[in-house]
Amino acid sequence: CGIIAARVSDDATPFLLDGLERLEYRGYDSVGIAVRTASGKLETVRSVSRVGDLRALVAARADAAPASDARSGVGIGHTRWATDGAVREENAHPHADCSGRISIVHNGTIDNAHQLRATLERQGHVFRSDVDSEVIAHLVERALGVDPDLLLAVHIAVAQLEGSWAIVVLDARDGRMVAAADRSPLVVARSDRGDFVSSDVGAIAEWCETFVPLRDGDVVELGEAWSWSSEGVAVPVPFPTASPFAPS
Ligand code: GLU
Repeated sequence: CGIIAARVSDDATPFLLDGLERLEYRGYDSVGIAVRTASGKLETVRSVSRVGDLRALVAARADAAPASDARSGVGIGHTRWATDGAVREENAHPHADCSGRISIVHNGTIDNAHQLRATLERQGHVFRSDVDSEVIAHLVERALGVDPDLLLAVHIAVAQLEGSWAIVVLDARDGRMVAAADRSPLVVARSDRGDFVSSDVGAIAEWCETFVPLRDGDVVELGEAWSWSSEGVAVPVPFPTASPFAPS
């Protein structure tokens, strides 16, 4: 239902939680975040409850975590409005691949999820939820086995999807993030606070002034490689790091 992603210099968690709070008006049944830690792991917290409850869970987790593995400035968050799969914690986003390296959030519906899942399971992928969205994490994992570049892997993954999607894919290994959309809204933005992605301008408007809506079929990497005009305004299209296969 709602997506937020942030790449900031400090801990991404407060940005994700504040962003999720601003997405609450859309309605949702579950909520979750995944933040990369300093050692390249994912700290994922999900809940069938309100953002306020998630905030408390995240704080409790932080108290228990070793100080040596602090949360980094890279993370993704989601409010879910279930379309496929019951409302339970395992079905809340973010969803991970088998290795726990890839984490994704998804808005929309994947119409061919059952076929994709059957194929992936035959190939040895183990699913932890019954949500259509989880196939995206496994498709990216499989594509990374062929080509180690995350941007290309996400392109290969979404090329196999039928349906609608706004997604953000986070690679815990190096903290790269790739956003993609088709028939579901997603905007990217950069400011002196950092790089942001959301399904809703209002969720990130406090930190950014210019927003770039993704076009259907866009696959975009967040980070240093973004191109911005000399005035500091986003160059809308094409992104220099957009997949060479995206329609123009
Ligand atoms: N189809 C996905 C699910 O059921 C995403 C729903 C949404 O957009 O929140 O979890």
